[in-house]
Amino acid sequence: MTFISIAENLARLGIASTNNGSSTGQDFFASGIDITSYSPADASQIASVKTSAHHDYDHVLAKAQEAFIEFRQIPAPKRGDMVRQFGNKLRYHKQDLGHLVSYEMGKSLQEGLGEVQEMIDICDFAVGLSRQLHGFTMHSERPGHRMYEQYHPLGIVGVISAFNFPVAVWSWNAALAWICGNVVIWKPSEKTPLCALACQNIFAEVAKENDLPEGISNLLIADHEIGDRLVKDKKVALVSFTGSTRVGRIVGRNVAERFGKSILELGGNNAIIITENADLNMSIIGAVFGAVGTAGQRCTSTRRLIIQESVYNEVRDRLVKAYGQLKIGNPLDETNHVGPLIDKNAVQQYLDSIEKCKQEGGRFIVEGGILEGEQYASGCYVKPCIAEVENHYEIVQHETFAPILYLIKYKTLDEAIALQNDVPQGLSSAIMTQNLREAELFLSQAGSDCGIANVNIGTSGAEIGGAFGGEKETGGGRESGSDAWKYYMRRQTNTINYTTSLPLAQGIKFDL
Ligand code: NAD
Repeated sequence: MTFISIAENLARLGIASTNNGSSTGQDFFASGIDITSYSPADASQIASVKTSAHHDYDHVLAKAQEAFIEFRQIPAPKRGDMVRQFGNKLRYHKQDLGHLVSYEMGKSLQEGLGEVQEMIDICDFAVGLSRQLHGFTMHSERPGHRMYEQYHPLGIVGVISAFNFPVAVWSWNAALAWICGNVVIWKPSEKTPLCALACQNIFAEVAKENDLPEGISNLLIADHEIGDRLVKDKKVALVSFTGSTRVGRIVGRNVAERFGKSILELGGNNAIIITENADLNMSIIGAVFGAVGTAGQRCTSTRRLIIQESVYNEVRDRLVKAYGQLKIGNPLDETNHVGPLIDKNAVQQYLDSIEKCKQEGGRFIVEGGILEGEQYASGCYVKPCIAEVENHYEIVQHETFAPILYLIKYKTLDEAIALQNDVPQGLSSAIMTQNLREAELFLSQAGSDCGIANVNIGTSGAEIGGAFGGEKETGGGRESGSDAWKYYMRRQTNTINYTTSLPLAQGIKFDL
């Protein structure tokens, strides 16, 4: 097991801690109550953090507005250089930040380090992009006129993030928002405040070294009330929200009410179709990692396996065998496959879902339950489980953020695609097949209705180079790669007349 002293770890990330829950003493706008962060790995108090109160919000907003006036004048490639330096700081702090992510959130150390790597990757991507914020030019229908489009910064971008990706989601948004000339106010999940504080401290090093205005990166460690203010505030041009569909519905409505812009990245209910032409070795690895990785707490976690009847029994038996080999325990121990759930509420939701599934007729072939014993003393460790179900069950239609995998049998591929699409969510999907016809049908307009559709790769995770997001109740937003940067800018069409007359469009005459 990798052992590090959490106090030293926090100190290297600029967080003062006595390792006994005393306040971190952060000096930004945080004069509210203290909240304590506990590790789901061993229930230890990691540290307490001061929250931001309502009047702190006013200060943060004023600082951000002030910073934007200066920051938008800095050329985009120079803003890119700032992001490049931030990426290098992340490289330097990767081990410490990765450990903190793992310890505070409970995901495996490998995944914690992987999350920091995603931050580094998006910084690299954004640096290149900072020289490529292209608009189109087009031919004017009027002689002596030039027409083109350009993109300008929006202003303040509010980022509200979920607990399960406590650092990467912010960086996907912040890196793009910054190169586009915006300033960012981040309200992280109150379940992972120390990860957020560490990121803010790392960015502060870059701001200081470059004499940048305060207020380019702002942090509000606070509860949902402050989140709600950010959402309803007309001065916040774009709200990028990552979280549950339940909260996203409220956020989307409130931002739309004031004609603000939003990016909504909400829940998923992701399925892998395993056809009779699948490579079953790859299918089992993809399915098991997708279902139990991050203890089933990824928006892209595999929740459903839709399996062709001729291979169903074999897949089921191999899954049972694979689940029997899973090692569950401390996420910092790299030999474990599965860590804890985030807290006891999440454990209760997992238990309730199992119960509901049984009531609806689900048959568990790998039983769930809470793990007991000294190494599971936090009460957050649960057994990954598998149930045979029907797709229409209410519980199967719902995203339970825990390692529960549902198996569904099908006869024809059309039926499998219909089952895959027949849920309210539309984030990630996959097909396992070596048959070109099956793969192409799945990717066609008559195939998967999700924002992400993969062939011979599971549903879990995504590369930062592609636009990330989903359809239907997943919210429709896109962030990270491709042209997602356009969400972070306002678009302007410009027409310039360089003649001495003023011809009107469509040949209209207006003689004076
Ligand atoms: P959550 O919806 O409970 O909380 C998300 C954030 O919203 C937190 O910061 C919370 O404080 C804030 N919040 C709560 N009420 C609010 C309100 N009324 N106004 C403004 N902000 C408010 O989600 P969670 O439990 O932290 O995360 C798990 C969920 O996030 C899952 O559903 C998962 O699928 C989803 N998720 C989606 C993606 C994606 O990219 N699609 C990525 C990660 C997580």
